[in-house]
Amino acid sequence: MSSPGRPRIATLPERVKNQIAAGEVVERPASVVKELVENAIDAGATRVEVDLEEGGSRLVRVRDDGHGIAREDLALAFAPHATSKLADVGDLEHIASLGFRGEALASIGAVARCRIVSRERGTKDAFEVEDEGCAISPVREAGGAEGTLVEVRELFFNVPARRRFLKTPRAELARCLDVLQRIALAQPGIGVVATHDGARVYDVERSMDLAARIRRTFGAELAAALEPVAEREAGIALAGFVAPPRFARSDASRQMWFLNGRIVRDKLLVRALKEAYRGLLFDTKQPVAFLALSLDPARVDVNVHPAKAEVRFRDERSVFGFVASRVRAAALRTDMATPGARMVEGALRREQASAQRSFADVAPARAPAGEPRGAWPSAAPPLAGSRPADALVRAASDASRREEPASLVHERPSTGAARDGLAALPTSTFLQVAETYLVRALEDGFEIVDQHALHERITFEELAADLRAGAIETQRWLVPELVEASRAEVQLVGAALDALARIGIELAVFGPTTLAVHGLPARLARPDPQGIVRDVIAVLEAAREPRAEDVLEAVLHRAACRSSVMAGDRLTQEEMRALFERGAALESDQTCVHGRPTRVRFTLDDLERAFARR
Ligand code: ADP
Ligand code: MG
Repeated sequence: MSSPGRPRIATLPERVKNQIAAGEVVERPASVVKELVENAIDAGATRVEVDLEEGGSRLVRVRDDGHGIAREDLALAFAPHATSKLADVGDLEHIASLGFRGEALASIGAVARCRIVSRERGTKDAFEVEDEGCAISPVREAGGAEGTLVEVRELFFNVPARRRFLKTPRAELARCLDVLQRIALAQPGIGVVATHDGARVYDVERSMDLAARIRRTFGAELAAALEPVAEREAGIALAGFVAPPRFARSDASRQMWFLNGRIVRDKLLVRALKEAYRGLLFDTKQPVAFLALSLDPARVDVNVHPAKAEVRFRDERSVFGFVASRVRAAALRTDMATPGARMVEGALRREQASAQRSFADVAPARAPAGEPRGAWPSAAPPLAGSRPADALVRAASDASRREEPASLVHERPSTGAARDGLAALPTSTFLQVAETYLVRALEDGFEIVDQHALHERITFEELAADLRAGAIETQRWLVPELVEASRAEVQLVGAALDALARIGIELAVFGPTTLAVHGLPARLARPDPQGIVRDVIAVLEAAREPRAEDVLEAVLHRAACRSSVMAGDRLTQEEMRALFERGAALESDQTCVHGRPTRVRFTLDDLERAFARR
């Protein structure tokens, strides 16, 4: 007799056994998604639909158009260790299907309310079976299309301890999608559609190849930069894509290994990838790669992990060597230059950050919430910044702005250079690119200027200053240019002739439907009389008081835009220098009159980031 209270050995009830076993296979909704979708693929499906609710914890439903399950097999689908994919232990030597352990459905049935509806290909009748926490129903007739539908509701309804470990629906959904995307990339040839709470969250069409799937899943920028890999050696093949080192991330979420169509997270393959990028990446970064390894199933043991994520290669050294050397060759072929667009983003972010800071005034300087700190180089308190001179200038100008009375705020500051603290080099030469962009060196970086945008701003500002001084100079023509217009338009313009003359636009009514252009502002580099008359008409039509100052300014805006150096003018060194000098004398030469930026500036800070020096 045992003494009371002493625990005794007993075989666990079937239900408890299954729930314990379930823990190894079913950790969270994403594991259910993986097992069900892999079953669909093993069944020869070409299209898989996945519906999720509440991150999958309320519902995971997978519908496929595979070969289906016969009525007599359906009775066994939820039974532990029941599989159609493996007959004896010898088969374990060469597993080609994704599943084989016969555990998934039994495990899921032990911890959720499940239902399978299936109709075998080529038959008329569908059947269903249910399993609610190990309570398996008899097989019944049901309605359904060819293929199989598996529904898993209320995961862990009977295992509260497990349920408490689930994260928010968002987080669980993210994991489900990660699994689904990996499977979708591993299995070109299969269409996948997924919804969450009724909204479509992911889809790839059947016809999309790996490249197209990567583009759909991760965007065009990454897809366009990928380098293909296609290598083969006796009995082993490697195919897929690797990304240039700059796409590397601190996590492995864009590192995907497919082994004979199976998604795996194998340590050996991760190490081989790391080795391939040795010296091309910081140690803490994970390269981005999508690689499918195919080899004789007999050369790899996939039965070392319940979720079959890890595998064991029979000949680790040769697999490692093959993968590392071939991937390295591909990584070296990628375009490793930092694209200018990335630097532009960095520079724009920096500008925004400093703009925010000058508005923030006395508020403590810190990175805006949600932004990685590192992306905000100027988020540090001004005097502790990496560019002391710049920071001092900014701090000083911020302070002075704050003390100014409101009416003086619009007074022009000294010069463009002092304003932003990045002085132009006095003796620098300029570079013109594509007859559109000007590049010049600064003391602390360089900038690229859109010559048309800058010239437009200069022309307008100078005209506006002339207007304020009442001294717009007109260039008169010997022979007036005639412009046709409607009667109403001619009358409209006719009533504003003297106001227009004040801004240097000298027009006359020549006939009931004709206007004569006698002169235009002398500052316009390339006057376009037809265009300017059209602009005048458009502005006047929209104006309530045609003589008002702002109406005249609007006309000047348009005239400046029409009559400035266009993209496509080749400029000499002197012309470029003059353009910059005129710009620097203005209140603002940072945007064109429509608000487009005139320049993109790269500080040493940006350059150091681009070259990963910091
Ligand atoms: P395994 O996949 O390891 O065989 P599972 O528990 O996942 O084990 O599935 C048990 C069996 O149920 C499978 O072997 C297969 O015969 C059948 N089955 C499961 N899902 C499907 C499906 N979507 N289509 C056809 N048969 C399926
Ligand atoms: Mg399975």
